[in-house]
Amino acid sequence: MSDNTNYKLIDGKKIATEIKSEIAARIKQLEDEGKRAPHLAAVLVGEDGASKTYVASKEKASKEVGFTSSVYRYPETISEKELLEAIDFLNNDSEIDGFIIQLPLPKHINESKIIDAVSPKKDVDGFNPVNIGKMILGFSTFLPATPFGIQMLLERSGVETVGKHCVVLGRSNIVGTPIANMLSRNASNANCTVTLCHSRTPNLAEITRQADILIVAIGKPLFLKAEMVKEGATVIDVGIHRIEDSSSEKGYRIVGDVDFDNVAPKCSHITPVPGGVGPMTIVSLLSNTLKAYSENNNL
Ligand code: NAP
Repeated sequence: MSDNTNYKLIDGKKIATEIKSEIAARIKQLEDEGKRAPHLAAVLVGEDGASKTYVASKEKASKEVGFTSSVYRYPETISEKELLEAIDFLNNDSEIDGFIIQLPLPKHINESKIIDAVSPKKDVDGFNPVNIGKMILGFSTFLPATPFGIQMLLERSGVETVGKHCVVLGRSNIVGTPIANMLSRNASNANCTVTLCHSRTPNLAEITRQADILIVAIGKPLFLKAEMVKEGATVIDVGIHRIEDSSSEKGYRIVGDVDFDNVAPKCSHITPVPGGVGPMTIVSLLSNTLKAYSENNNL
């Protein structure tokens, strides 16, 4: 392993703060023009702790930039029909520019049906099939929040993508598949040659070692080790896990899918966990909401 300590940490928290300031400045401008603020709503079903935390941080970030924010809370027992009615209400409320359905939903509710019911014009999470289709065709749309955040991180950290080999680990609908598509597009912040790997990929390390840019979204704590990484690669860690740590006051620590201490010395750029991709996901949501507001109000 190299003993390089000159890798550049991609500070997602700092970049997210910069983008939030830019959004806040735009909201201030709209306010000065006498216009209402963009309104982002969230639908929260049940009492799942992680879901509540995510929704609370989205609410906090919305308020920080000057958005109006609201949370529609429903009990675990809500029926699919009632939830579809709630979505219909949000789709038709002209004061709400965008909304998200916090996932996962209770087992008795068909998640695909719910995602499909969100108006593509208000789908600021970028999960609706219409928006996914637009993304694939390269049309203007709401890009899925986490991949959009990754793309902004790369851009704002000066990581060159054109002509680079990007290897994506994981093919989920919300991270791996869309980021693989986005980075392979013919665009100045993309134009990578992309390899998408998953649990059936043989000789994974042979492939990851070819990556100039390695995006890891497999949901396995500390999975990526130094021997899987090429010297000088950029590593983006999407994973987020709470693991036991008796040396920490809280009894746990937060880690990603990448074994940071082991991998970082080999990298040119790497994201930390926490403070890397996580803060960017929320900022993407704010950017998408501002876009929805502008489009729905012909601004
Ligand atoms: P997911 O739906 O669990 O999908 C995991 C993917 O990894 C699947 O495609 C799976 O392959 C693949 N995989 C699993 N084990 C593998 C292995 N040993 N080798 C190669 N591929 C393997 O994951 P996700 O929703 O994308 O989430 C991934 C991680 O990112 C999680 O830790 C999640 O909490 C985190 N996350 C963070 C954010 C954020 O804002 N920071 C946002 C979303 C997700 P198969 O398809 O073959 O099963």
